[in-house]
Amino acid sequence: MANTSYPASYYAASANPVPPRPALQDDVETDVCVIGAGYTGLSSALFLLENGFKVTVLEAAKVGFGASGRNGGQIVNSYSRDIDVIERSVGPQQAQLLGNMAFEGGRIIRERVAKYQIQCDLKDGGVFAALTAKQMGHLESQKRLWERFGHTQLELLDQRRIREVVACDEYVGGMLDMSGGHIHPLNLALGEAAAVESLGGVIYEQSPAVRIERGASPVVHTPQGKVRAKFIIVAGNAYLGNLVPELAAKSMPCGTQVIATEPLGDELAHSLLPQDYCVEDCNYLLDYYRLTGDKRLIFGGGVVYGARDPANIEAIIRPKMLKAFPQLKDVKIDYAWTGNFLLTLSRLPQVGRLGDNIYYSQGCSGHGVTYTHLAGKVLAEALRGQAERFDAFADLPHYPFPGGQLLRTPFAAMGAWYYGLRDKLGF
Ligand SMILES: Cc1cc2nc3c(=O)[nH]c(=O)nc-3n(C[C@H](O)[C@H](O)[C@H](O)COP(=O)(O)OP(=O)(O)OC[C@H]3O[C@@H](n4cnc5c(N)ncnc54)[C@H](O)[C@@H]3O)c2cc1C
Repeated sequence: MANTSYPASYYAASANPVPPRPALQDDVETDVCVIGAGYTGLSSALFLLENGFKVTVLEAAKVGFGASGRNGGQIVNSYSRDIDVIERSVGPQQAQLLGNMAFEGGRIIRERVAKYQIQCDLKDGGVFAALTAKQMGHLESQKRLWERFGHTQLELLDQRRIREVVACDEYVGGMLDMSGGHIHPLNLALGEAAAVESLGGVIYEQSPAVRIERGASPVVHTPQGKVRAKFIIVAGNAYLGNLVPELAAKSMPCGTQVIATEPLGDELAHSLLPQDYCVEDCNYLLDYYRLTGDKRLIFGGGVVYGARDPANIEAIIRPKMLKAFPQLKDVKIDYAWTGNFLLTLSRLPQVGRLGDNIYYSQGCSGHGVTYTHLAGKVLAEALRGQAERFDAFADLPHYPFPGGQLLRTPFAAMGAWYYGLRDKLGF
């Protein structure tokens, strides 16, 4: 049987206490059955409950077991693909809709945290750090681009200014987004699950959806029960497996790794990141880091194509951390863990309907903390019959990975190797 406990992460060790949740052992009826209790599923459930739907959530493991409870905690706005690239592919009208939504996920998170009093160490401010003049030029044009869609809170940082916000000598400049920021990701998910339950939603843990009986009144089967629903939302992302075969061909689970240092103490922590902003660099295979509430450095980076778990995570990530912060050479690593995100070829989310009552959103390929919260809202709008924003995502074209199921992993790894080389050589 699959392992359904949280990985031994800093987040699991510092999770807020939660009541045990039962496995589904009956036959139940509901308006919407949500499969997966990560941010996509929980955000959908919350928006639907707030709009009067009856909602049942099935989670194969525990709330936040997947990427939502393991990620870097960075609230990064926009998508994993620039809006001008999207515009060239889909045209100005659809790009306008998507561009307008690019910063909405961060606002939704803040609204949720305030409305439901979620304790998740929310901090404002995220920095994109440029390692080369070319990357800085890209940030400058990205700022202009985002401003075109009304997102005007961004500030360019020259070399002197970025050194004031992060004690790393590698950067030539950067861009500060005060609508970005960071959170304890598992505690955000647990808080959202509690909010779902406070509105009458029901969450079953240890209850994997093992089969979907499609039709006018679809039924989701778990090992010991079933849920009959008017609608189904599939939100299993990189952990979904082959439950919905149509989705698997155009996406690929990938692993990425994170470490957490021992607590650094106020002085050292403050010397690294004086304003407590989170940082991600501008490489294709990017590094990202931030401080926790108890002043550890959380540092993530690297991708394992095909989602195999690396044997020694610390050996992969610690050298990256020391390259950015050699001053941490004597600091102990207390936790190291891995998690899976879902990659698509275009790096844009895979969104749509199967028939007229099964909806899905997955595969945002990286910047998922904000997008998944937006996805919940957009899915709920679609179920209420207002599908314009949903369709803007659903109409994005998606293609299978070259090489099919067998060869997609080496092909994607080769692509990443090429981009990694470009990062290293600075072109
Ligand atoms: C290590 C790591 C670091 C990351 N860092 C960042 C970051 O700093 N900032 C950022 O923006 N993004 C980051 N991401 C990406 C982001 O975390 C994800 O995009 C986002 O959390 C995906 O949310 P989700 O709800 O779609 O999927 P998940 O959180 O993976 O949730 C899916 C859930 O569905 C459940 N499930 C699957 N199949 C079934 C089934 N058959 N029946 C019932 N339940 C099922 C799983 O158990 C899981 O709990 C990171 C990802 C990883 C892995």
